[in-house]
Amino acid sequence: MVFYKTDEEIEKIRASCLLVCKALTEVAKALKPGVTGLELDAIAEQLIRDAGAVPGFKGYNGFPATLCISRNECVVHGIPDDQPFVEGEIASIDCGVLMNGYFGDAAYTFALAPVKEEILHLLVDTKISLRKAIEQAQVGKRLGDIGYAVQTYCEREHSYGVVRELVGHGIGRNLHESPEVPNYGKRGRGLKLQKGLVIAIEPMINLGRKGVKQAADGWTIVTKDAKPSAHYEHTVAISNGHADVLSDHGPIEEAIKINPALQEITIKN
Ligand code: MG
Ligand code: MG
Repeated sequence: MVFYKTDEEIEKIRASCLLVCKALTEVAKALKPGVTGLELDAIAEQLIRDAGAVPGFKGYNGFPATLCISRNECVVHGIPDDQPFVEGEIASIDCGVLMNGYFGDAAYTFALAPVKEEILHLLVDTKISLRKAIEQAQVGKRLGDIGYAVQTYCEREHSYGVVRELVGHGIGRNLHESPEVPNYGKRGRGLKLQKGLVIAIEPMINLGRKGVKQAADGWTIVTKDAKPSAHYEHTVAISNGHADVLSDHGPIEEAIKINPALQEITIKN
């Protein structure tokens, strides 16, 4: 069942999403070689609890942490550990919070300088695909238009692998609600987008082939060919005209700009 949200509910989801982005901004300030995922996780959890909210992932189906930290060939659902970050790595960091009864969800893939040119292009292109998906997220379009936009740009125009097994999702009182929001699809197919629909759009794009598998820890999803994977996520509310983007990568990117250990992921207009 799809739940359409009132304006009041959308503002609550926005507040949760902005708290997620605040946590990711603190992560962006702290991330550098030598730091561990567990340290970042502690920073994010503290910030969320200080705000009177609850980490959205911790305990969800038994997930043990506040952040999903998925490095290099890890696609999503990586568990923060004590392995220090090193130069040249990438890491998708995904965060959810529950505040005032509503979830927020966003993710950003960071690059620890210096990252190989082809990997930097993967990050930029994945971000562009998210933007193209959001452009389709408006009243009158269908879910298939969103997936088609990501798939066409990433697969047809850039020969990346578009992950099939994991998808975006509705969000609200639950972290994962209907509908599923795949990063592939056919134009004009699927659920018609209506005002009040709130969805997390999250392209997961592989430098190599699309195949993924689950790692031995029972959580982490990794690429079968062990090539790197990128992941950016926004939560958006459908309205007439351009979607209302409830999460905000802006402060995260401001923090990246002043952190010499991180490389900027800049879309050229
Ligand atoms: Mg997420
Ligand atoms: Mg999500």
